[in-house]
Amino acid sequence: MTDRSAVRVRFAPSPTGMFHVGGARSALHNWAVAHRLGGSFVLRIEDTDEARSRPEWTAGIIDALAWIGISADDPAFEGPLLQSAAAGAHIGAAERLYQQGHAYYCDLTPAQVQERADASGTPGYDGYSRDRGLGPGEGRVLRFRVPDGVTVVDDLVRGRVEFDNSSLEDFVLVRSDGSPVFVLANAVDDIEMGITHVIRGEEHLPNTPKQQLIWSALGHAPPVWAHVPVLVNESRKKLSKRRDKVSLDQYREEGYLPEAMVNYLMTLGWTPPGAEEAGTEIMSWPDMEAVFDLADVNSSPAFFDVRKLDAFNGEYIRAMDVDEFVERATEEIPDDWDRDRFARIAPLLQERTVRFDEEIPGKVDFLFIPDGTDVEIDDASWAKATKAEWAEPLFADVIDAYEALTDDRWRTDVLKSEYERVMTTYGIKLGKAQAPVRVAITGRSVGPPLFESLEELGRDETLRRLAVARPRFGSG
Ligand code: GLU
Repeated sequence: MTDRSAVRVRFAPSPTGMFHVGGARSALHNWAVAHRLGGSFVLRIEDTDEARSRPEWTAGIIDALAWIGISADDPAFEGPLLQSAAAGAHIGAAERLYQQGHAYYCDLTPAQVQERADASGTPGYDGYSRDRGLGPGEGRVLRFRVPDGVTVVDDLVRGRVEFDNSSLEDFVLVRSDGSPVFVLANAVDDIEMGITHVIRGEEHLPNTPKQQLIWSALGHAPPVWAHVPVLVNESRKKLSKRRDKVSLDQYREEGYLPEAMVNYLMTLGWTPPGAEEAGTEIMSWPDMEAVFDLADVNSSPAFFDVRKLDAFNGEYIRAMDVDEFVERATEEIPDDWDRDRFARIAPLLQERTVRFDEEIPGKVDFLFIPDGTDVEIDDASWAKATKAEWAEPLFADVIDAYEALTDDRWRTDVLKSEYERVMTTYGIKLGKAQAPVRVAITGRSVGPPLFESLEELGRDETLRRLAVARPRFGSG
């Protein structure tokens, strides 16, 4: 029997599909509690649904957990542990329950159970075999003898939750083919492993009174329960893999940073203490772990807001070391690009990047075409940027002003102040006024800050591109 004095939590996913963001959040809650209370974390793969479980999903879970910084760390349980390997213990527990009178056999088929329910007008199993004294046998299920009364589940998130035992019916523990059902296997594993805290999604709350009855019948005080709220989408519907983007891997592929994902997942239903005063929920894992308390988790459904996740990711990207940003972003840049130039321009990109799959190089490709090669100008962008009457004279004035600048004055601040000086004649704002030059230089209407880009591009190439574009004004 395992040591019961130490805190031990477990994360018990079923390997039946893509690893879900909701699962990741439960795993993080477990991880935080284990660390805060000086306990350990066990990974148990609940693979007893043979038809739906696949080894590659198990591998995917382990990989995804590693990405968010979690690895099973309990030396007593080197994992991953497979629930299927403990079938003997599940059946052994079922036998004990039978021997001690907490369970009994029943030979009714599901159709017969239904017939009786229909006839009496009371749904569910009516306890028909409770006192028939049947022993084990072909086609018989083992049912738990639910006592009269009320089962009170003390839940750290939801408080005291009462279940009237009459609503539970004498539920099945072992099917007629001899296989243990989920509630039994799950509870027996938790008991055998010495789990002290069961922290999981609220969809398991209906199982909890049954499991608490099993714990008690097997002679154990229940663990600490905590059922964390479901995640919902913007229509307040439970996140579903058919409707919503729920796979942690997909977010990873889209270029979210694990730190941002972890931070965001933790804020679903929980506001870190001090976050309101600080005006930000951005917090490192060690800081969150130090203050996380399940009692502070809100029991209402939590909205998984991808826009908020984007904002978190953008913040984490801005906080990255610029070298790290460059390293990550340059994974995608073409081999013939000047890496030093890219590194110089990278801080401008870093400021604006929300995800790493944004095709970052595409935003600055105009800086990497060989000098003397014309940039491809998008006709629609040019037409839009130059349709105002002021566009052509302003463009000419900018060329004059920039030609007058010597190389040593070819700097962002001077390029900007010269532009502003020229622009005041036309009484327009900088955002608008930049458009014709931006399109002439970059080929597009959106891109990184203009004057920094011009400084990087250099005087000769800037003036050359402006000269190349200028005749377009005349061409209608
Ligand atoms: N295997 C269950 C699931 O993936 C979890 C059960 C539990 O955490 O108790 O939903």
